[in-house]
Order: sequence, then structure tokens, then C-alpha cells
Amino acid sequence: MKQLVILSGKGGTGKTSIAAALAHLASSEMRVVLADADVDAANLDIVLAPTRLETHPFEGGSIAEIIEDECTACDICAQVCRFDAIIPGDLTYRVDRLACEGCATCFYQCPVNAIRMVPQQAGEWYRSDTRFGPLFHAHLFAGQENSGKLVTVVKQQARLLALDIGADLVLVDGPPGIGCPVISASAGADMALLVAEPTVSGVHDLERVLGTTDHFGVPARVLINKADINEARTEEIEAFCRSRHIPIVGRVPYDITVTEAMVHGQPITAYTDGPVTETLRGAWIHLREALQL
Ligand code: SF4
Ligand code: SF4
Repeated sequence: MKQLVILSGKGGTGKTSIAAALAHLASSEMRVVLADADVDAANLDIVLAPTRLETHPFEGGSIAEIIEDECTACDICAQVCRFDAIIPGDLTYRVDRLACEGCATCFYQCPVNAIRMVPQQAGEWYRSDTRFGPLFHAHLFAGQENSGKLVTVVKQQARLLALDIGADLVLVDGPPGIGCPVISASAGADMALLVAEPTVSGVHDLERVLGTTDHFGVPARVLINKADINEARTEEIEAFCRSRHIPIVGRVPYDITVTEAMVHGQPITAYTDGPVTETLRGAWIHLREALQL
């Protein structure tokens, strides 16, 4: 079983459209389990129209809670809290739940054990069915952190099911950027498909995300999306890839039909045959062979 993660140095490159198209192409040839690792703004489900089978809570971290009957109002917790999250009172102290960062310093410093750390639900993860295979996806509640941890949960669940059903491929639609969730999405992958676009920051974005995949020893392939909107920038990306010996698996032309397909809830490859579909089919063949599937 192999794991392919689709990444881009920033959002808006068409990464999810490409993930949906690859899910369609791959699932017509083999057993695929899908994971939407963009837990801050999951949108693969918009195209795949999943039927939700399971919902599970995600505990992201803990916040402090003062046990009023135990508190002696000694003020130590207020002195050590760097986030001003302790609210002093005459007889007992309280925690400002919105200000508490869950660092647990007060918990360790309270001389009478009057503080406990209470786990908080930070989001949910789901197991769903789609026409291209099972999908694991998640939703991080507004203002919550630990998205990297939630990505790990989504990926772990996808991998466990893939092992259970003997799937050939886990296809991960990764988060944009280079932060903690991208690190979680890249870890353990057999290959990364990096979606680049020919913009002013195209090479820079690509270089940043390559820093992450290189760090984890994940071999990369590049797909240039909307390659014909700026030939000079596309050439820059190609030159960069040559200098780093990174194969380019396709140059997808700009086509408004991709958006039209998304509006109709379809990946472009299932919607129409044309230059975009042809390019993505070629990219998929390259990836399949590189992954030895
Ligand atoms: S350190 Fe403990 S006893 Fe002292 S004010 Fe805080 S909760 Fe109360
Ligand atoms: S857990 Fe950390 S942030 Fe929260 S109240 Fe205690 S010291 Fe302050």
C-alpha cells in the first residue's frame, strides 16, 4: 500500500481540483482510500459529495480549571500564568477559559493541587463514503489549534482502513503552506505531488514546500497548474525543477471548464475529455509508475 500526498506552497493553486481528479482516475484502476488533510478548510467533500458514516470528537488540548473548594487564594497561579488567564477573587480564583493556552504551568505550581487540566473538544473527524472510495476528513472548530495533530488522526484512520481492506493507495489532499499540518501530512508519504502555479511567487512557494518534503525524505513530483497563463513564470518553475532534478509530471492548461466541473460536483476528468483531462491522465500514469502501483 502506497501513500501519495498532494501539496502546494500556498492555497489557491487548484490542489483540491487535482486531488479530486486523481481520486477519480486512481479509483477506476485500484482500491483507494482518500484523506482530506486540509483540516482548517476541508473542501474535497464539495467535489466528492460524501455520505457521512461516522463522526468522532477530536480533543485538541486541555485548559486549566480551578477547584473552588480547594483553592486558598494564594495567588501563585496568577503570578506564574504568562497569559493573564487567572482571574483573582477574594476567596477563590477562576480561569478565563478564552485566555488559557493550556500550558499547565499553574497546574504544576499550585501548592494545594487545586487546579486540574480539562481536555477540550477542538473539532471532529469523519469517515464517509464517496463514489471514488472511503474518505476521512475533519473539521477544526474556529479558533482552535493543533491542526497538525488532527491531520495525523485523519491520516492514521485512512491508513488503518486501507490496511484492513487491502487498498493499494492512500491519497492525501494536503493542506497548503508549510506549517505544522503540512509536516503531519508529509510524514510517512511515499511520494509528494507538488502543485505549482506560474505566479510571481511560484518558484518561492515551491522551494518552501520542497524544504518540508526533502526534510522527510519524501520524493517529489511537480505539476504546473494553469501553465499557459504565464509562460515566463512556467519556464522559471521548469528551470528550478531541472536544477533540483525534480520530474515534472504535467503542465495543465488553464480551462474554465475545470471550474464548471466543480460547480457540477465533478472532477474535471469525470466531467469532460479535453486537454486538462488528457494532461491529468498523463500525470496519473507517471505517478502510478513512479509509485510502482
Ligand atoms: S495556586 Fe492554587 S491555591 Fe493558589 S490561587 Fe491558584 S488555584 Fe488557588
Ligand atoms: S494552563 Fe497556562 S495559560 Fe492556562 S491558566 Fe494555567 S498557566 Fe495560565
